[in-house]
Amino acid sequence: MLNTELIINAVYVLSAALFILGLKLLSHPSTARRGNKLSAIGMLVAICVTLTDQNILAYEWIIVAIIAGSAVGAFIAKKVQLTEMPEMVSLLNGVGGLASLLVALAMLETDTAIDSYLAIIVLLAIAIGGITFSGSVVAWAKLSGKVAKLISSGSTVFSGQAFVNAFIVIAIFVLGALVVIYPQTANSTVYVYSFVALCIVLGVMLVIPIGGADMPVVISLLNSYSGLAACAAGMALNNNLLIVAGALVGASGIILTSVMCKAMNRSLINVLFSGFQAVKATEIKIEGEVKPLAADDAYYVLEAAQSVVVIPGYGMAVAQAQHAMKELQVLLEENGAEVVYGIHPVAGRMPGHMNVLLAEADVPYELLLEMDEVNARMANFDVAIVIGANDVVNPAAREIEGSPIYGMPIINADLAKNVFILKRGMASGFAGIENPLFFKDNARMIFGDAKDTINTIIRQFSD
Ligand code: NDP
Repeated sequence: MLNTELIINAVYVLSAALFILGLKLLSHPSTARRGNKLSAIGMLVAICVTLTDQNILAYEWIIVAIIAGSAVGAFIAKKVQLTEMPEMVSLLNGVGGLASLLVALAMLETDTAIDSYLAIIVLLAIAIGGITFSGSVVAWAKLSGKVAKLISSGSTVFSGQAFVNAFIVIAIFVLGALVVIYPQTANSTVYVYSFVALCIVLGVMLVIPIGGADMPVVISLLNSYSGLAACAAGMALNNNLLIVAGALVGASGIILTSVMCKAMNRSLINVLFSGFQAVKATEIKIEGEVKPLAADDAYYVLEAAQSVVVIPGYGMAVAQAQHAMKELQVLLEENGAEVVYGIHPVAGRMPGHMNVLLAEADVPYELLLEMDEVNARMANFDVAIVIGANDVVNPAAREIEGSPIYGMPIINADLAKNVFILKRGMASGFAGIENPLFFKDNARMIFGDAKDTINTIIRQFSD
């Protein structure tokens, strides 16, 4: 018996090693696919060996769940567009939280002789799992805009919100204490289910006040929570691998959250609670006028350019313009120009969004420069091509103190000699604010779908 346990734990160590190696490889685009595969193999091995556990009484439902889960997972992975990836990540976080909640709840239901220590761990798994679940569903709704009428993508605040939240938190603690102190009383089930319901409500309350532009941070924070919930569920089940895997997800989520906060020049506290402050509409008076340019005319400037920086944003993902951009990059290089890409850490709708798109179009990694590097060289670029980016090149972050994005580090596209902005109209970006870049003397707006615009310029080069 001991031997079986020993073997299971030895295999768990192997799985944990595969997870860690996978995470390491995920940190660079050139090795990310391999990292993903290694982690997936680690998970498969872990599942197989867990199924040999003697505590499993019946396999029927496990098999049904594996088949149903795999089918849904494969279907979603095939169907989801790259632009919908953040929504999917959000939903997956939510499902992770829900799984931990259900496992913990099942333990409370079945374990009649639960001690206080175990009860606290189980309640922790339920609380974090519940908050993660409902918070992720709200984050998904905000990002997808599918339930826009119910949940606005901006911040939802109402008077007395802090009071309501404080009440919920106190009630959660009181109910939790009652469950721990009186686990076997007739009222225990009522306490437990009220506890679950309030944790789910708290998840909603925590995410609704957070505005759209802060969603990247929220998603990675919820990702971290889903790891912590799994970790607590692992402690409750006494499963070492679940503890390790949960801790890995929890820690990497927190690291990503801190990287994202730095990229936006915000503290986590500010992101989580700024929605509670009254939002003051800032009147921005922008000087200058918009100067449209035809794609055909842009060709002449690009043809003479020696150095070009491409700054992609969410619109490049919408237009699927990455392949066309790669084609234009090659033509510009053949024409003697240096072409690099300036990547803002929160460009697009998920961390690494632009890197993924450009890797898909086989743009060499060494051409992707980070924000600081590209900003240091900005004044020397003949042309900055802004493809569907808006917030991440908004100089209001530097120039207008009252702006909601004031202080956020941006790519200083406005400091290049010429700036071409490829977008369909004058719509604002995700943060919903105006962009003074479009009105600068050196800026030209090339209106239209980004892919069509680039294809027009490509045709000019080929003629
Ligand atoms: P923005 O959302 O600020 O702007 C995208 C722009 O793309 C829009 O102004 C839109 O203008 C344009 N666009 C849309 N479709 C097309 C098209 N087919 N062709 C050309 N242009 C198009 O994007 P950024 O990447 O600059 O900024 C990202 C924002 O998203 C930041 O505020 C960030 O905080 C936030 N965010 C980031 C996440 C992340 O993890 N990276 C996650 C969630 C949010 P128009 O409609 O006029 O064409």
